[in-house]
Amino acid sequence: MKAIRIHEDGGPDVLRYADRPDPGVRPGTVRIDVHAASLNHIDLFLRRGLPGITIPLPHIPGCDAAGVVSEVGGGVDSVRVGDRVLVNPTVSCGKCEFCVRGDASMCLDYHLIGETIDGTCCEQIVVPAENAIAFPDSLSFEEAASIPMVFVTAWRMLVTRARLRAGEDVLILGAAAGVGIACIQIAKVAGARVFAAASGAEKLKLCRELGADVLIDYSKEDFARRIREETGKRGVDVVVDYVGKDTWVRSLRSLARGGRLVTCGATTGYNPEEDLRHIFFRQLQVIGSTTGSRNELLAPLKLIIAGRMRPVVGAVFDLEDTAAAHVAMEERRALGKIVIRVRKTER
Ligand SMILES: [Zn+2]
Repeated sequence: MKAIRIHEDGGPDVLRYADRPDPGVRPGTVRIDVHAASLNHIDLFLRRGLPGITIPLPHIPGCDAAGVVSEVGGGVDSVRVGDRVLVNPTVSCGKCEFCVRGDASMCLDYHLIGETIDGTCCEQIVVPAENAIAFPDSLSFEEAASIPMVFVTAWRMLVTRARLRAGEDVLILGAAAGVGIACIQIAKVAGARVFAAASGAEKLKLCRELGADVLIDYSKEDFARRIREETGKRGVDVVVDYVGKDTWVRSLRSLARGGRLVTCGATTGYNPEEDLRHIFFRQLQVIGSTTGSRNELLAPLKLIIAGRMRPVVGAVFDLEDTAAAHVAMEERRALGKIVIRVRKTER
C-alpha cells in the first residue's frame, strides 16, 4: 500500500510518500480501506517532535479516517466487510478503572492512533473493532473523516467535563478551527449562548453560519473587554481555550464568578502566565480534557446524521500532497478541516 511516513522530526519535507506492506488483521481488529483522512494540530506537533512523547520512527501520521471495512478478525461482530466506517482515534484497554467508568481517554494504557502507533495517512489501516464506527451514505468519506477527533474532543470538553447547560454563556476561542467548529454547534444544541472569537471576517462569517450569537474578531479587539461589555461585566459561564499562552489570563478574566475554563490543548504555547487571584477570589474552575470515548463520539455523530450539526471540510489534498496539506494547516489558510483524499470515490 501507499503511505505517508516520517523518518525524522522536522518540517513538512520529512513527510515521505512511500510503499509499505499491507497490514495484517488480528483477532478483535478490522482492516479498513481508507478513503479519506484528516489533519489535526497534533499532527504538526508530532511531526516537529514533542518533548516527553517518544514516537517510534518511522511513523505514519494521522488520527482521523473514514473508509470501508475490507476484512474482520476473529471474534468481531460489531461491523462487517463492506461497512462504511469512521475511526475513533482513542485506543484504550477497556479494563482499567477509568475505562470501566467510561473515561477511555483517562485509560492507564491510553494510545492515540497516529500518535504512539501508526496512523491513518495510508491506504489501509488495522484498528481495534470497537474503534470502527459505521456511518450512513448521507455522509461522504471526506465529511466523515473530518468528524472524529474534533467532535469527540469538543463533546467531552463541553458536555462531559464542563457540563454546559441550557441558558449558559460560553466563549469559544479559535472558534473557526476544527475543535471550535464542533464546539459552536454542540453548545447551540445544548441551548447555550455562544460567543465566538476568531481572526478575520471570513472565519467569523463561518461561525455565524454555524449558529454563533456574538462574533468577536480577537485579532482586532480585546476579547475579555468585549465579553465584559456584552455581559454587563458579569462574564461567561464557560470559556473554551485551546489557544493557551496567548489568551490564558484574558480567558480567566472573561469568566463569571464560579465559571469554568476548559482546555484541550495549547496551540500557541503551554506555559502561559497565570494569575491565581482570579482563580481563588472568583472561585473559578480550570478543567482539562482530551479526546474521548466511543460514546462521546457516537453522541455528536447521531446529531450530525440527524442534520442538527455538520462537519466542515475546508480543503482537500491528495495523499501524495500531505506535505502541502501540513503547510496549509500551519499557515491557518483553510476554513474548516483539512482532508486528505486517499482514494478517489464518488461518495
Ligand atoms: Zn483502560
